[in-house]
Amino acid sequence: MINYEGAVFRPPSEARSLIIQATIGCSHNKCTFCSMYKEKTFRARDFSDVEKDLISARSMYSSIRRIFLADGDALILSTERLVQILESVRRIFPECERVGIYGTSRSINLKSEQELIHLRELGLGIVYLGLESGNDEILRSINKGESSEDIVRAGKKARKAGLLVSVTAISGLGGQRLRTEHAKDTAKALSLMNPDFIGFLSLMVEPGTQLWEEVSSGSFTLLTPQEIIEEMVIFLKNIDSPGTVFRSNHASNYFSLYGNLNEDIPSMLGELDEAMKDQDLLRHEFMRRL
Ligand code: SF4
Repeated sequence: MINYEGAVFRPPSEARSLIIQATIGCSHNKCTFCSMYKEKTFRARDFSDVEKDLISARSMYSSIRRIFLADGDALILSTERLVQILESVRRIFPECERVGIYGTSRSINLKSEQELIHLRELGLGIVYLGLESGNDEILRSINKGESSEDIVRAGKKARKAGLLVSVTAISGLGGQRLRTEHAKDTAKALSLMNPDFIGFLSLMVEPGTQLWEEVSSGSFTLLTPQEIIEEMVIFLKNIDSPGTVFRSNHASNYFSLYGNLNEDIPSMLGELDEAMKDQDLLRHEFMRRL
C-alpha cells in the first residue's frame, strides 16, 4: 500500500502518473489564494518511507511510465536526496520514462546548473513552476515571496539544463485594479522565459484563504467572466513565445483554449471573440473547479 499523507495534488498533465510524496506540504505555504497545503507543516519525508512507497507501487503496477514527486515543492529537497530518490526510481522502475516535480524559483535558483543537469540525467524530466503573474505588485500582494525576475531566471535556468518547463499563470489574479498590468506583464515574463508549456487557471477564491477575506472585505474585486476573456485577449496580443504549447483548458477556466505559440494566436483570438459574443460558450460558475 502507498502511504499518502493528507490531500495530494498534481498537475493535470500528470493525471496518469504514479504519485509519490517526497515532501509533505509546501516549503513556502504563504500565497494568499492557495489552500492546498494549509493543513500541512512542511517537511521532507524520510528516504526509507519514499522507497517503501516505490516498492509497494512496484507490487501493484506492472508498468509505470511516469512518476510525479509531490508535494509542492519537492524540488526544494537537497540534490543529494533527490539523487537518492531518482536512483531508487531507476532501480525499481527501469521502464519509467519521466519523473516530474513541482518547483519554485527558489528551489531552482538554489541549485547549480550542473546539479540540475545531473538530476535530468537521472530521469527528472519536467518541472512545474508557478509564475501566477508577471507583475511584481501582484506577486507582492499575493505573498508569492518571489519576483517576476526570480521566476523568469529559474525557468530559463531549468530549460538550459535540459528540463522541460511547464509554467502556470492565473487569470484574474490582479483583480479589477491591475487586470491590464497582469495580462501584459505576464505575457512579458513568459515571453522572456519561453517555456515548453504554459497553463492558465482562472482564479477561484477558497474559504479559509487570505484572499477570501480580501474579497469579503471588498479590498479585492474579482473579474467577471467577460473581463477574464478580455484579459486573455490582452495576454495573447502581447505574448511572444515561439514553440510553447499553450493551454487554458483547466476546469477552473470559463473558456478552454489550446494551441501552439505563436502560430495559433490568431485562431485563439478568434475563439475568444466568439466567446465574447456568445456567453453560452462559457463554462457555468457551478461547473468550475480547481
Ligand atoms: S501556490 Fe504554490 S508556492 Fe504558493 S503556497 Fe501554494 S503550493 Fe506553495
